[in-house]
Amino acid sequence: MRPLNFDNRFVRELPGDTDGINMPRQVYDAFWSTVRPTPVANPRLLIHSPEVATLLGLSEADIAHPDFAQIFGGNQLMAGMQPYAACYGGHQFGGWAGQLGDGRAMSLGETINSAGERWELQLKGAGPTPYSRRADGRAVLRSSVREFLCSEAMHHLGIPTTRALSLVATGDGVVRDMFYDGNPQVEPGAIVCRVAPSFIRFGNFELPASRGDIGLLEQLVDFTIARDYPELQGDTQEKRGQWFLEICRRTAVMIAHWMRVGFVHGVMNTDNMSILGLTIDYGPYGWLEDYDPLWTPNTTDAQGKRYSYGQQPYIGHWNLARLKDALKPVIADASVLDAGSQVYADTYSETFGVMLAAKFGIRELTDEDAPWINGAFELLHKAEVDMTLFFRNLATIDLANPTLKALYPAFYRDELLQQYHAEWEQWLQHYCQRLQRDHLSDMERRQRMNAVNPRFVLRNYLAQQAIDQATAGDNSMITKLLDVLRHPYAEQAHCAKFAEKRPEWARHKAGCSMLSCSS
Ligand code: AMP
Ligand code: MG
Repeated sequence: MRPLNFDNRFVRELPGDTDGINMPRQVYDAFWSTVRPTPVANPRLLIHSPEVATLLGLSEADIAHPDFAQIFGGNQLMAGMQPYAACYGGHQFGGWAGQLGDGRAMSLGETINSAGERWELQLKGAGPTPYSRRADGRAVLRSSVREFLCSEAMHHLGIPTTRALSLVATGDGVVRDMFYDGNPQVEPGAIVCRVAPSFIRFGNFELPASRGDIGLLEQLVDFTIARDYPELQGDTQEKRGQWFLEICRRTAVMIAHWMRVGFVHGVMNTDNMSILGLTIDYGPYGWLEDYDPLWTPNTTDAQGKRYSYGQQPYIGHWNLARLKDALKPVIADASVLDAGSQVYADTYSETFGVMLAAKFGIRELTDEDAPWINGAFELLHKAEVDMTLFFRNLATIDLANPTLKALYPAFYRDELLQQYHAEWEQWLQHYCQRLQRDHLSDMERRQRMNAVNPRFVLRNYLAQQAIDQATAGDNSMITKLLDVLRHPYAEQAHCAKFAEKRPEWARHKAGCSMLSCSS
């Protein structure tokens, strides 16, 4: 396998804990700990992302080389790799959780590709680190398939996200009690190699701030600005201020995208918030099927619903407030920190407003549009309508001859379709009148709508089917899904079965509608 070019600034420029003792502990005065992946029995490459391989300058021959599975399964290091686990803290479910850190993620190094771009490689599930607490540092196949497929699917949807290079089966068993109900089982283990320009989280700043280590905090702030935000100008204080506002802006854009496609992250703790505004840490995430703002896939959050679909924009704001608290000691101008809230709110409403207009196929949203748009969402909820199918099929409405029939396939229950039929008819009439005002041709309108309303998302039950088959030794559905999800806005009529709404058997099935944090 040809070598990659590494330039490991995180470990070179920031203080680290180089004891190499892999024992759970509190780590002070350091942003990282030296670690080594723990070897696995029989690493086997199940799938890779061709786009990410290209990004890194890896050829198909490199991927096929026997060393590839060894390296990305954690059995070998490539020259230049300096594995580390990052030290960070976080607010989990609204409360300060103290030190967390990479308990099962290990960064291998920062590669520089031929275009000069920095891409950090990180294994998830490569064994214990000083941050593993009482857990094993491993990951199971089901959660690894989900992370691999979803991070690539999100990228192809045009949503800022960490990427995934590879999914390697380890050949080792991993014991998990999936629903924390006293039924531990041995599951196949796997390792995903995640790829991003940076894996720094809000929690990396919160931890030194919580300990009053202001010197350490300043070091990380200025490092992040220098490495990950080189475009910022001005003196140190000016840069720090602009940097915080840019994080607020990016976080708003990311969450607006989630809302556009019906993605529910599921665990928006501050340790799962990227400083680059990337979607990170794919755990018990899910996709809205029938439109329900209170839906969350995460069984751990079933009571509080803190991280349900409709809450996400508010939680983004709350999380930024925690970052702001952490940054107070190093940003002298308090008004800059206070401005973050407004930047977030303005960016979110502007970005999501433009998206909403495109989703419904109108040129621009005005205040007068609020009642019928809200009306649509209310009806979608009451009548249990599939969000993805609704918007995609809405584009097929023929203004000369509008009929609700085009939307029937999006309804989950016949009785609710009957019950709300008249209300929907009325809504459609109003909607068509509104469309007439814009004077877009059907064709033009459809193109605009289909560019923001995906035909294909990683439906919860599809991910589960792919997992069930992979667990039985057949990876073909993972491959098929990745293929389809690479072009989520294209019609791909030959793949229509992957666009179908959730079948009835999956309504309450574990993995399809309910997921735990156990992974
Ligand atoms: P998450 O909810 O997946 O973001 O994880 C929260 C924290 O728990 C992070 O510090 C993880 O690294 C850690 N963690 C989760 N699962 C494991 C595991 N199997 N082994 C070690 N640490 C883990
Ligand atoms: Mg996490």
